[in-house]
Amino acid sequence: MKHAGCCHCGAIRIELETSRAPQDHVLGACQCSFCRKHNTRAFSDPSAAVVITAENPHALQLYEFGLKTSKQVICNRCGVYVAMILIEGERVFSVLNIDTLDDRALFKRESRYPEAPLGGRHAAAKTRLNSNLTGETRVFGYTNVA
Ligand SMILES: [Zn+2]
Repeated sequence: MKHAGCCHCGAIRIELETSRAPQDHVLGACQCSFCRKHNTRAFSDPSAAVVITAENPHALQLYEFGLKTSKQVICNRCGVYVAMILIEGERVFSVLNIDTLDDRALFKRESRYPEAPLGGRHAAAKTRLNSNLTGETRVFGYTNVA
């Protein structure tokens, strides 16, 4: 099943493809300082695929903090946080801000227990121990990203 979405202004489009029903996905409540400020409902699933497209490369802004091993994709025009991406060679992993999707209301299952500060998805991605990231991620509109 495909789920489409975009940032607020539409400059960045998002497509999520997953075989699992929305109610079967458990969303993360990442406790990193960035996600806490955005109150992010984080989606990741190794069996899902994500495509992020910016027709205008200037719309896609990448923000880094902390250990700077992951990048936060933000719309440069409307300011919406779209996804976290982790680039490893040719592969791009992601954690999607589920609230960018048009049918975000279908994704209701939230993590019962917030992830610990250092166990948040971003921190886990940095240690490369988290196999729960969405592995099939393609980003269009930023030339340095595969
Ligand atoms: Zn936008």
